[in-house]
Parts: sequence; structure tokens; C-alpha cells
Amino acid sequence: MKVTRATFDEVMVPNYNPAGMIPVKGEGSRVWDQDGAEYIDFAGGIAVNVLGHCHPELVNALNEQGSKLWHLSNVFTNEPALRLASKLTEATFAERVYFANSGAEANEAALKLARRYALENFGEHKSQIIAFNKGFHGRTFFTVTVGGQAAYSDGFGPKPGAVDHCDYNDLAAFEALISDNTCAVMMEPLQGEGGIISPEPEFVARVRELCNQHNALLIFDEVQTGVGRTGHLYAYMGLEVTPDILTSAKALGGGFPIGAMLTTAKIAEHLKPGTHGSTYGGNPLACAVAERALDIVNNPEVLEGVVKKEQMFRDYLAEINNKYKVFSEIRGKGLLLGCVLNDDYQGRARDFLVASADEHLMCLVAGTNVVRFAPSLIIPEEDIKEGLVRFERAIASIVNQK
Ligand SMILES: *Cc1c(COP(=O)(O)O)cnc(C)c1O
Repeated sequence: MKVTRATFDEVMVPNYNPAGMIPVKGEGSRVWDQDGAEYIDFAGGIAVNVLGHCHPELVNALNEQGSKLWHLSNVFTNEPALRLASKLTEATFAERVYFANSGAEANEAALKLARRYALENFGEHKSQIIAFNKGFHGRTFFTVTVGGQAAYSDGFGPKPGAVDHCDYNDLAAFEALISDNTCAVMMEPLQGEGGIISPEPEFVARVRELCNQHNALLIFDEVQTGVGRTGHLYAYMGLEVTPDILTSAKALGGGFPIGAMLTTAKIAEHLKPGTHGSTYGGNPLACAVAERALDIVNNPEVLEGVVKKEQMFRDYLAEINNKYKVFSEIRGKGLLLGCVLNDDYQGRARDFLVASADEHLMCLVAGTNVVRFAPSLIIPEEDIKEGLVRFERAIASIVNQK
């Protein structure tokens, strides 16, 4: 059966507008389309493919588990899930793990747990959830409501209540919102979708302090920042602030769908049997692949490699920008980088993405003013260089047509 991009418009719900070409094969940080054309991948499946495409060890883990046991449901537990949970608790502050299938589901679990914890410990008045403008937490109705982007949350009727927002890094606004009625604060330890915005260390430290003062739980959404992305296994480790609940997904499965919510034993207690669940959560295939991905990423060589590769990107991007003067700043951390367009190119991030695709480079945007890179954490130096040569050509084409 022959399928093309036109097929998409005939059979798919039009909530996406994918690129014209259809990728069919990937290896490392290179991808090939239906016509055999090759692309360099700086998008990483939106910060998912931490080990590139079809990493041999992940393929092995998948094949091995694939001939053993695919699915059980949570009527039974399974070895890969138990091993992965053991490794996650060993590597982090957490003592308990809940598995889901996506970032949104992990966040949904975190929010439900926080509400239950507050209700059972303090009573009904303690239901307020504070989150941040431009934040992103997924697309279920609860998580999209907690996310700080009206474009994603509006137009679906009445929303879940008791959710308030203020600006990220705005301490005064946050202090004005939090009180003993606050159940939880949900934040990304570096805003991804919102434009690659780093938190100020004093801001995060003070948020933690105020959460303690008001018995509110601090939830870090590390769906995009987790599993090596910033050069730390989890971004909180570089901020010296420990959350009460942490969510992980995207990179966790290296491309296989999985999500996880991590927390302490004391908080986890409140999700007693029957209070929450998922048919596929903790699926053996997903956990087997994630276990292998975590083994590979959680090692100093890979994590230090992220810092080195970040510098390579920054050095070369600075050179390009000296020539073309399109960016006001390169921001972000590790291999989650944002090229911020200057005043001359406001609102045109998508043009840069399209021009890059024309030069056979896959990249991302974060809002309308930031071109985002989230490549494999083990992208080879020559692919970084070649990708940035293509990026430079894309920039030249835009600058020249101006
Ligand atoms: C992508 C993302 C999510 C949503 O994850 P899904 O797997 O798409 O549900 C949630 N939070 C953050 C910070 C993300 O980047």
C-alpha cells in the first residue's frame, strides 16, 4: 500500500501539520525519507531519542523482551518494571515509582497524588495548584489547565478548578499567590516548550522554601529536562533543590513510550490500591528499553559528553551569529538549546525551521521566537558540525531574501 503525505490529510485528524517528507529509517543522528534523502536530526523526536535512532543496545533490549513477554496489566508486576524502578530510586531522591505511558500521564498522576495528599493530611481547603505562565505539562485536561498557555487549554469548556498561574522567575508574584491553601506547585526546572527559559537559582530556592513553609508539595516536571538532557541525570541535581514529586518521560524510554512519577514513600502512601492506575503503565517492553537507556545515560562519560557537546554547539552558533546577526542570545542548558531571534526576525522561528528542513536538518521551535535543538546526547561531533553547516545555509537563505 502506497502512502504519502497527502494520505495524512485524507485519513488523519488534522490536529498536526507534519512536514512534507515522510521519514522511514533512522540511525544515530541521521534519518532517511521515503525517497532516500538523508537528514541530520537536531530534534531528537522532541527531546526523546537521547541515544539517537535505533541504538543497537536499545534494539537488543526491545528484541530480547519482545520474545519473552509483552504485556500483563497491573494485575501482575514484572521484572523489567521492578528493575527500572529500583534503578530510578537508587539514582534519585525518590523512594517510590509509578509508571505511566507519557509525560502528561505522569503529570496527571503527580497532580492527583498532590491533591489527595493535601486532602487527607490537611482537608478540603488545601486544593490550590500554582503553576507558571508559558509552562507546559501535557495535553490531558488537568495538565493542560495547569500548563500556562491559553492556546492549549482554552476552547474545551469548563476547566478543572483551583489552578493559578504567575510568571516564571517572578518571586513577588509567586509570594503573593502561595498560602496555606496551596496544595502543590508544579514547575519545569527549565521551561522547554515555553521558550527554553532557565530558572534563576534564587527563585527555585525560594519556591522550595515557601513550599516547606506552607506544607505545599513541589512537583518538578522533568519530562523534557530529565535523563541527561541538561548534563545532569535530572535537572534538579544541578539546581540543588529537591522536589517532592518528579515526573519523567520523553528521554526515559529513548523512543519507546513510557512515563514515570517519582516520589517519597511518605507521599506515595496516599495512592492506595485502586486510587489510580493505567492498563499499560509499567509495560515490560517499555520498562526493558527504558532500563537499558537509563543504564547508558546514567554514566559520567555520557553526562560529561553532554556538557562538551553543548560547548561545541555554542561556539559554532556564536560564529554563525557573528556573520549573520540573527540571534540575540543562545540559551538553555546541556543539549536543550534555544537560539533566540533578535528584533529583526521576531515571530519567524518557523521560517528557520522550514529553511533548515530544506537544507536537510531537523530542528524544533519553542514558541515563535526561538529555534530549539534537542539532539541525541551521544550525537557524534561530525554530525554536530555538518548539522550546523546546514543550519548556516538555512540562515543565509533567510538573511539573503530579506
Ligand atoms: C512533552 C512534555 C510533556 C508532555 O509529555 P507527553 O508525553 O507528550 O504527554 C509534559 N511536560 C513537559 C515539560 C514536556 O516537555
